[in-house]
Amino acid sequence: MNLKQEFARLLQAGVKENEPMSRHTSWQVGGLADYYLLPADEGELQEIVRLSREKEVPLFVFGNGTNLLVRDGGIRGLVVHIGAPFSYIRREGSSLRVGAGTPLTLLARRAAREGLQGLGFGGGIPGSLGGALVMNAGAFGSYIGRLVAEIRLVRFAGEAVTLGREEIAFGYRRSNLAGRGIIVEALLELEPGDPAALQREVEKHLAERRRRHPALPSAGSVFRNPTHRPAGSLIEAAGGKGLSVGSARVSEQHANFIVNPGGASAGDIERLIGKVQRLVREKFAVELQPEVRIVGEER
Ligand SMILES: Cc1cc2nc3c(=O)[nH]c(=O)nc-3n(C[C@H](O)[C@H](O)[C@H](O)COP(=O)(O)OP(=O)(O)OC[C@H]3O[C@@H](n4cnc5c(N)ncnc54)[C@H](O)[C@@H]3O)c2cc1C
Repeated sequence: MNLKQEFARLLQAGVKENEPMSRHTSWQVGGLADYYLLPADEGELQEIVRLSREKEVPLFVFGNGTNLLVRDGGIRGLVVHIGAPFSYIRREGSSLRVGAGTPLTLLARRAAREGLQGLGFGGGIPGSLGGALVMNAGAFGSYIGRLVAEIRLVRFAGEAVTLGREEIAFGYRRSNLAGRGIIVEALLELEPGDPAALQREVEKHLAERRRRHPALPSAGSVFRNPTHRPAGSLIEAAGGKGLSVGSARVSEQHANFIVNPGGASAGDIERLIGKVQRLVREKFAVELQPEVRIVGEER
């Protein structure tokens, strides 16, 4: 039995071979994944991890693909998508138990309706909870890590574990969760609040994003903000707005966004990232660090 047949036997939703990652990333770029897997539950995830170890095939975890630059040569081995089967929200007192595949905006809206405060910042962040935890996603002065009571994950060694708050570290757009396993769910501790006011807060953030952010395909902010000045402000002051490589372009609306108006390759975007870094280095002697994760092979 070849690998595809083995996965097809294991998984309800099956497996796609040579799947274009451009179909799944928010930048709409990225080459082929050897195998794109859609596990239906934690049991299937454990089977995938077991098989990847047994066959020595690398495994990459994929959420909503909104913070990823997948190179044009694609991803070798397995791409495991934590999606709809892992999208659920259960109330436990003033906490929410949330599946890692839950979209952050859906979560923010539901928490507000439930009269639970703390997730308003997530309205409009297009990622899944799993990706948000790994990246410690945040906005408007808040971030996901501060709400975490525990996280359940399937370790790359195969077993499922629950990590307590004390075992998890969050920093600015980073955590110590990357590389530890596949996040399945989290328990988030929230505060009681007024549902109507909380719903207004979420909608306000959504409207603010629609106003400030370019509508074209992007991965949100490309660079981390240096401590003294936002990356977008540095890029704009250096004259970077509108800079382009191929079809990839620095947004005129928000200088920390690189947009794909159509036809850009991952190579164009990566070269443009380098070009912006050089520009800001020359003008301000500041080394911008990408916030987006760059993965996969060059073509
Ligand atoms: C228009 C736009 C606006 C944005 N605004 C913001 C913002 O305001 N604030 C902000 O912080 N970010 C923002 N982002 C970036 C992005 O949405 C967040 O970083 C988001 O949390 C990423 O989630 P994802 O599911 O898309 O992760 P992915 O991009 O799929 O993956 C990101 C990383 O997490 C890992 N990962 C994903 N799921 C899991 C899992 N279940 N278990 C283990 N590892 C996993 C991946 O391997 C990868 O390393 C924006 C993006 C866009 C396109």
